[in-house]
Amino acid sequence: MNTTEINKSCHYVKKCGACHIGDRTYEEELAEKKRQIEQFVKKYCPVKDMAGMYYPYHYRNKVHAVFGRKKDEVVAGTYEEGTHRIIPIKNCLIEDAQASAIIETVTELIKSFKLWVYNEDTGRGLMRHILIRKGMSTKQIMVVLVTAAPDFPHKNNFIAKLRELHPEITTIVQNINSQDTTMVLGEKSKTLYGAGYIEDVLCGLRFRISPSSFYQVNSAQAQVLYKKAIQAAMLSGKETVIDAYCGIGTIGMAMAAKAKRVIGIELNADAVRDAKANAKRNHIENIQFVAADATEYMTQMSEQGERADVVVLDPPRSGSTQEFVKAVAAIEPKRVVYISCNPETLGRDLEWFQKAGYKAVEAQGVDMFAFTNHVEVIVVMQYCGKGKN
Ligand code: SAH
Repeated sequence: MNTTEINKSCHYVKKCGACHIGDRTYEEELAEKKRQIEQFVKKYCPVKDMAGMYYPYHYRNKVHAVFGRKKDEVVAGTYEEGTHRIIPIKNCLIEDAQASAIIETVTELIKSFKLWVYNEDTGRGLMRHILIRKGMSTKQIMVVLVTAAPDFPHKNNFIAKLRELHPEITTIVQNINSQDTTMVLGEKSKTLYGAGYIEDVLCGLRFRISPSSFYQVNSAQAQVLYKKAIQAAMLSGKETVIDAYCGIGTIGMAMAAKAKRVIGIELNADAVRDAKANAKRNHIENIQFVAADATEYMTQMSEQGERADVVVLDPPRSGSTQEFVKAVAAIEPKRVVYISCNPETLGRDLEWFQKAGYKAVEAQGVDMFAFTNHVEVIVVMQYCGKGKN
């Protein structure tokens, strides 16, 4: 599809701030993102053209809106940047369209059931947020209604009406958030209908997604990214692979069929629990997950004489650390595949890898977030020996 022919505009764009749709064409945006990557990475290796989205709209599989009042109307939308004023948004161009339609219906139902909308200033009222998650390949849809208190008047009729109007919904969860906080979800959840979670299929594997689980918001491009990571790892079936900063284990699991053994290392114990459950439900036996700091765990491995053939890392925006790079070098992988969501920290880290004997071979951006400033990039490195760069 030629996206220049379908470039769209959104009249909330200046106020909402979530995207910059309409400022430039999608092709121009991809070229700009490539330039941003080049700025930090070009001195280490060539940068390929961005892998852009086929259709750069309605890609977000996770959609959130806050409820509020405007005069006598119940509205759902987002806070105007830097304020507590709600901008009612309909038909957002980057969010899933079914999710937008459900949000509109729930807003109408709140009005017709005469439920109170939560007021941030007074702390009174019930309905706070709505969160929708969709499995793009399974089409399963989860609606999370975030309320300020457990008691939900007319709950059964409300749910029945919502399901009647949107039979595509597969599960409905009530989450209770009574805290004065900017966090959307509170700690307690009650399943009101269905399983309480959805599933999605990514790279042929089935993942369970709970209301608060981390999951890539752009499923189609996550697959493009993971496939590139698998290709870059050049696995023959004999390798030990480390998936550092592994989250719920999606990348490592996608590589397991082509490797001898995979070790996923992740600091967050909840994510590790999800990762283990996901490995089990996909019958993957050559993967193990450890809840640990990636640097410490790899250092221990090297001290015990263990080695790895490939290291994949996907750190947060702050990037990696010099100690991490040393720990990687100590387990002597032939190849390192670096997935980054921040070209600037990536550039800094490539310098450390270069000093440790790893030469960057190629970099490519994969656009996960069309019409936003977020840039995702993958770099392949090869061990060349110290001083040979
Ligand atoms: N690779 C995953 C998610 C990566 S997000 C995916 O594609 O889905 C980055 C992850 O790094 C987060 O889950 C965070 O908890 C984890 N993390 C942050 N610091 C860490 C550290 N020092 N050691 C191990 N994991 C860490």
